Amino acid sequence: MPLDAPAQPEFRYSACPHDCPSTCALEVERLSATRIGRVRGARENDYTAGVICAKVARYAERVHHPDRLTVPLKRTGDKGVGRAAFEEISWDAALDAVAEAFLQAEQRLGPEAVWPYYYAGTMGLVMRDGINRLRHAKRYSGMHATICVTLAWTGYMAGTGALRGSDPREMARSDLVVIWGTNVVNTQVNVMTHAMRARKERGAKIVVVDTYRNATAQQADLFLCVRPGTDGALACAVMHVLFRDGHADWPYLEKYADAPRELEAHLRTRDPAWAAEITGLSVEEIEAFARLVGTTERAFFRLGYGFTRGRNGAVNMHAALCIPVVTGAWKHEGGGAFHNNGAIYHWDRTMIEGLDVRDPGVRVLDQSRIGAVLMGAPDALQGGPPVTALLVQNTNPMMVAPDLNKVHPGFARHDLFTCVHEQFMTETAAMADIVLPATMFLEHDDVYQGGGHQHIILGPKIIEPPEACRSNHEVICALAKRLGAAHPGFDMTSWELIDHLLRVSGWGEAARLEEQHWIDCQPDFETSHYLSGFGHPDGRFRFRPDWSACKPQGFGAEAGARAMPEFPDHWRVIEEPSDAHPFRLVTAPARNYLNSSFTETPTSQKKEGRPTVKMHPKDARRLGIAEGARARLGNGRGSVLIHAELCEVMQPGVVIVESVWPNAAFEEGVGINALTGADPCSPIGGAAFHDTAIWIRPA
Ligand code: SF4
Repeated sequence: MPLDAPAQPEFRYSACPHDCPSTCALEVERLSATRIGRVRGARENDYTAGVICAKVARYAERVHHPDRLTVPLKRTGDKGVGRAAFEEISWDAALDAVAEAFLQAEQRLGPEAVWPYYYAGTMGLVMRDGINRLRHAKRYSGMHATICVTLAWTGYMAGTGALRGSDPREMARSDLVVIWGTNVVNTQVNVMTHAMRARKERGAKIVVVDTYRNATAQQADLFLCVRPGTDGALACAVMHVLFRDGHADWPYLEKYADAPRELEAHLRTRDPAWAAEITGLSVEEIEAFARLVGTTERAFFRLGYGFTRGRNGAVNMHAALCIPVVTGAWKHEGGGAFHNNGAIYHWDRTMIEGLDVRDPGVRVLDQSRIGAVLMGAPDALQGGPPVTALLVQNTNPMMVAPDLNKVHPGFARHDLFTCVHEQFMTETAAMADIVLPATMFLEHDDVYQGGGHQHIILGPKIIEPPEACRSNHEVICALAKRLGAAHPGFDMTSWELIDHLLRVSGWGEAARLEEQHWIDCQPDFETSHYLSGFGHPDGRFRFRPDWSACKPQGFGAEAGARAMPEFPDHWRVIEEPSDAHPFRLVTAPARNYLNSSFTETPTSQKKEGRPTVKMHPKDARRLGIAEGARARLGNGRGSVLIHAELCEVMQPGVVIVESVWPNAAFEEGVGINALTGADPCSPIGGAAFHDTAIWIRPA
């Protein structure tokens, strides 16, 4: 239904759709039926509390960007050239061409030759996940989503047995907030809102554990600058001190943990001197951190994703998570741990994702290994047919997937048909045969769940899309008709899907959510703090997790699980520095980009400048690299040319490239992810984006 222009500017409620755990509740100024003005945080939402990041506050720049795709396009020139290689076509012609190519692929090699590939360009449940309904109805190849959360969630649930934790708003009532492995100033500003409130009102201390002195670490009372991939060693030494100095809460441990005596014995050799050698911290720093944790009842561990993006990432998450169990911090308001609230929403996604027609026998391909899949590696294809047709929504794998030197030639294959449904001519869209213009979140109805908090938030359509843009749901339904795919979800509007999802999941109805804008789903204190038992059948936290019991849905690296450490430890499976590759690279998130989103907005580009490698001056001097000089970074997977930025924010031997930059921003090489590996990490897969050994040479 067309949206009427308001008589005067007004603010409407929405939710930030981007891949950021904050999922901020928004107030969007609607200037007319097609234009927005200011965007601000919803003040009445007690997690967002009126605060959002600068890049979304200037969202008008993105939604009204002159380079938005607004019409369907058919490629007439070479792959990878960009807009000049395409001509406009009608929606019917575009959808017919996609359907014909998919039907041909299916006829030749079976339905598994078609791979719907998507991710988190929007986090709306209807627009992000509806592609799975088409996949299940057609028995196309599935996707094991390993780019982001797999290692972190697996490590967390191995301990708690459930993906939830203390109410993140409790950070404001904490006396010690430990922000571990997440640069919240860049990626989820609201954590700082609540942590700073605790500091201001209670004198709380803020501790940051990370691999470089980033914007969050600059706010810390104590900053622990670890070598990448050594967080497990730090956690072990902290627990060693807690047991040694009488800070272990034995009555709590006897009631709530599986093997506390065995853990204490295991940690006897993991003292601060042992961890100092591994982490690069001093013994004094580790002792000071442990003392703070041991003497503060209300200690809140806000555990992020960053420190889990290594080959030992699941082990490191689990190790850090063990600390508040040893002290019994879970018992106290403002204490315990939080990572993600995925389990509290108890969604029934059957209608959105078509789970009722899912065939578990259909292969599921590793998202991170898209390069190997497209290049026909038999193990990546699991012995099945090659992928000859792709449908890509909400992601830009030509830029964000690891091991780019396999991804790029994979997309360049002449026998691969690719349809990309996008908002801009991304580097992936430039490889497509058909490009379809996509709506942005303000131009369609959707519903969102807070990963970093506890709200379901409605994101209703606020403005009309430009020209011919269509939503993901419209495209999926239109393709389903042409492909002969049957499911009731294809005949529902996005609003009807939201209403159905809410009702069957026990959250009321869409009309009620529209009135109240969001639902606070936080479980009660006892449940949030696991005081009525952890999520395992016996109610006990697992210090000794059964890694082999971690079951991926149809895919995994189970063999690796058998070699994982029995108790928290430093698991030496990371890409260690060597003579050939003496540096460890971390591709941490940039402040003004969000994965590949916002790399197209002029303000974000201007604020970020150009890609740089942050190097310790000692390393740079030794290599003869001056401030601003070009340096070549490389390893067995590829190399890139980049400018050096000398700063003492990390340990010598560690370098940081804040990302993700468009590949074209590099003078040489296909992009920073040319260096990162796509090998699946234990126990069930996941990409090790911050676990990369490289060489550096002056250029
Ligand atoms: S902080 Fe994250 S969720 Fe909030 S507005 Fe920015 S990108 Fe969106």
